[in-house]
Amino acid sequence: MPDNNKANIHRSEQRPEFWDLSMRCCQLAATVDICFFAIFLWLGSPVLAWINVISVGMYAYAYRAFRQRRNYLAVMLIRIEVLVHAALGVVLIGWDSGFHYFLLMFIPALFASMHLRSAWILAICLWAYYVGLYVLMSLIEPLQPVSDRALLYVNIFNFTVVFLMFAYLTMYYVITVTRAHRRLARMATTDPLTGLFNRRHMVALTEKLRAREQRQPRNLTLMLMDLDHFKEINDQYGHELGDRVLERVAALLREQGREQDFVGRWGGEEFLVVMPETDPTQARIAAERIRAAVAALDWSDLQPGLRQVTLCAGISQMEEPESFSSAIARADRALYRGKALGRNRVEEAEPSDHPGAAVELSL
Ligand code: GH3
Ligand code: MG
Ligand code: MG
Repeated sequence: MPDNNKANIHRSEQRPEFWDLSMRCCQLAATVDICFFAIFLWLGSPVLAWINVISVGMYAYAYRAFRQRRNYLAVMLIRIEVLVHAALGVVLIGWDSGFHYFLLMFIPALFASMHLRSAWILAICLWAYYVGLYVLMSLIEPLQPVSDRALLYVNIFNFTVVFLMFAYLTMYYVITVTRAHRRLARMATTDPLTGLFNRRHMVALTEKLRAREQRQPRNLTLMLMDLDHFKEINDQYGHELGDRVLERVAALLREQGREQDFVGRWGGEEFLVVMPETDPTQARIAAERIRAAVAALDWSDLQPGLRQVTLCAGISQMEEPESFSSAIARADRALYRGKALGRNRVEEAEPSDHPGAAVELSL
């Protein structure tokens, strides 16, 4: 059953970066209002200038509220400031001042911070407010008119700020979405404990390599590895220590792998290296190097009693045509031959009897 409480968490509350952005917007808006203060003093409109001082105070207070995580209060303050400031600007010096552009800035903020239905309702209210201001200004004259030239300057300043703010917000969203996408892609393709590729991704990568190989055949060799007596390590020293051993072996595999190799965690204490452009002889040399390096690892810093960790490796070169699962099954049989022959060994697979036969592996 879905957890309604969790589902109802305010969308933006799950994203600290949203509050980060809101705080930056407060700083930006306060800076813009300081500029307005100077502009209106220069234009000889002290009333408008002092309105901006109140706005700066509101943004400073909202910023402080964000820092104290009183997000609701901060958001309300910003909303009131923008709504009132836009309306005052328009009513005092006219529609052509462009103060109403700032209302448009609400639209992305609404959709980013709340449920879609609420955002749509508020967006429609905002539209009504916008239309109301427009109609009002078509009926009345501005209360504190400024010269045409001053109006032009204010208008240019306003749309420049709104242009810049939209560009900044869009850039921020693109960066955030790209980062989130990368993070998700990494999570979907890697094993969280070791940081190596996960099983599903290893299958996908190998299939891709094979598709390329069909056009341009090259040696593609699999090396399947399994730690020896790993259950005993877990039983004797605990699962936590077992995890540290897996991490260290994974780090070594990553270190030892050549640039073109793909290294993944195939299962619990099993690892797979897919080696393009590698024949079984070269793969055996690489596997022997890894086997010896693992056997030579020093574990004294991790667990004083733990002397040696070893592994067995099975090597199979993919034949044409042969399914990936069949090549893995051959590597697995070779690996278990190594186990039967005393462990800490590298064994090469027998050639495939029925190259076309596919034994589907569960991912
Ligand atoms: P063999 O030499 O025949 O491979 O013996 P083994 O003990 O390594 O093999 P077995 O299949 O009996 O045990 C594998 C163990 O690996 C059992 C399981 O608890 C452990 N294991 C699997 N995944 C993890 C993991 O993520 N962390 C830890 N700590 N242990 C794991
Ligand atoms: Mg195993
Ligand atoms: Mg094992």
